[in-house]
Amino acid sequence: MVAHYTIGDLIKKGIEILGEGEFNNPLLDSQLLLCHVINVDKIYTYTHKDEIIDSLFVDKFLKLIDKRKSGYPIQYMLGKQEFMGLDFFVKEGVLIPRPDTEILVEYIIELVKGKCFKSKEHIKIVDIGTGSGTITLSLAHYIENAHIYSIDVSDIALQVAAENSKRLGLESKVTFLKGDLFKPLDGLNIQGSIDIIVSNPPYIPTKDIAELQKEVAEYEPKLALDGGEDGLDFYRRIVSDSGKYLSDNGVLALEIGYDQGPAVKKLLEDKGTLTKKNIPQNHPQCIEIIKDLAGHDRVVVLKTIQN
Ligand code: GLN
Repeated sequence: MVAHYTIGDLIKKGIEILGEGEFNNPLLDSQLLLCHVINVDKIYTYTHKDEIIDSLFVDKFLKLIDKRKSGYPIQYMLGKQEFMGLDFFVKEGVLIPRPDTEILVEYIIELVKGKCFKSKEHIKIVDIGTGSGTITLSLAHYIENAHIYSIDVSDIALQVAAENSKRLGLESKVTFLKGDLFKPLDGLNIQGSIDIIVSNPPYIPTKDIAELQKEVAEYEPKLALDGGEDGLDFYRRIVSDSGKYLSDNGVLALEIGYDQGPAVKKLLEDKGTLTKKNIPQNHPQCIEIIKDLAGHDRVVVLKTIQN
């Protein structure tokens, strides 16, 4: 006799299977994967517990549960991740957006409400390493008068980010560019005019990547994680190139690993090209480190504005 599974049975079965692994939330994963397969929202699984599920969907669900059990990230299976209250499409080949990065985005959104930016008609922002477009598109969504130049070397990242800009209706506020760090900006004649440069660059030291959670180490793109031998390669390059593009009243804001605050701050102090700028005495540059909700250093900011 063919077994009939209800929604309730399947969620329970998913929990049992995933529960043997090291997953944070077998209940949520099981619910979300079933919702994905039968195309309903989570509430439906509570209100229709006894509904019998077609065996084709049962097979599909159990296959996904097995894949999840192998450590494959659920976001790639569902094809989405929420960030700053917006739904982002993600797939293998782009970094999965992290809540940590919201600290950087929220900081910028608050900053532009200050007096220095309030009087500006347009705010020009550069995002280095756009990935799925999380930073770029949430800034474009929440800052009305922003235009973002959004750069990545990865074709997959640019495809995903472009798709997200379409889904979020933000195409007119973003210029996507392919290339290495600031290089693609060279043809645009915008040197010295950028108000804000942001980046969440790859910052994991190469030797530490294999020790990350399996979900990250095996399935997320190395290109988006690997920051070179000491994890600081991209900070060095961004710090040394940013002065060419940043306006005299500019802000450079970088996401960092929890233990990289002092090193990145020192890079900015030692050789920030902003120091070469003609900054008036009463208009000093200031460097601050912003902490995340867990109390760890998360963002380093250099600004030459008085806000
Ligand atoms: N900017 C994207 C994010 O923060 C991608 C970052 C990256 O790939 N290192 O999610």
